[in-house]
Amino acid sequence: MKNTLSILTVPAFDDNYLWLIHDGAHAAVVDPGDAAPVLAALAAHHLVLSAILLTHHHADHAGGVARLLEHASVPVFGPAHEQIPGVSQALRQDDSVSVPGLGLRLSVIEVPGHTRGHIAYFAPQQHWLFCGDTLFAGGCGRLFEGTPAQMLNSLDKLAALPDDTAVYCAHEYTLSNLRFALEVEPGNQVLLERIKTEQAKRARGIATVPSRIGMEKQTNPFLRSREATVIARLLACGKIPAVQDEVRHFAALREWKNHYR
Ligand code: ZN
Ligand code: FE
Repeated sequence: MKNTLSILTVPAFDDNYLWLIHDGAHAAVVDPGDAAPVLAALAAHHLVLSAILLTHHHADHAGGVARLLEHASVPVFGPAHEQIPGVSQALRQDDSVSVPGLGLRLSVIEVPGHTRGHIAYFAPQQHWLFCGDTLFAGGCGRLFEGTPAQMLNSLDKLAALPDDTAVYCAHEYTLSNLRFALEVEPGNQVLLERIKTEQAKRARGIATVPSRIGMEKQTNPFLRSREATVIARLLACGKIPAVQDEVRHFAALREWKNHYR
């Protein structure tokens, strides 16, 4: 019996990662924006699809569902607060999912902000986090449907997970995120070291994802918006007129990133 789970990185589009969790026989896919690379990976590794897990409704995360369902009739898990075609199991905060075929338990964390109903999946035994477009390595998702207060609260929930939690986010945005992080915290030594490490990975064509929650807490400005150094920098760069409340600070940081090139 195979019960050691591992995760395959399936690149898609320009910079998406689709995650294939498998035990050598069965596989669950997280956020299949495109079916083709998923089907190719399943075939290459002799895996049978047993479940689809969705974090939010955007096409680069859910666009491959219909075609995958033509190949395999499997349960599709997704957020209760979004309407996504194909979803058969609607999930809410603190729901527990037993992933079919894998014996993997995942707990559901509602993380609105990028979209209204965005959810993340946390594996309490493995310390894996699948967080879609909420927390990125070195950054966070844009606020398309939610408010800064919601996103700050969502990121706080993720930051509360164990430091060794592996963060499987959905995009390879790390280097540009860290360039912005350095603009915010030019004196952060851990960040400077991280940039070197991640640049070396990219130079060798290696994914920088997953990262770890502990590293994110030390280097990701969006998990650090309450740090005195970050608030001082927001003031010095004219991003806030005066010291305000934590939500305004976070909003100013997100706004700054939106326009940063
Ligand atoms: Zn998205
Ligand atoms: Fe996305």
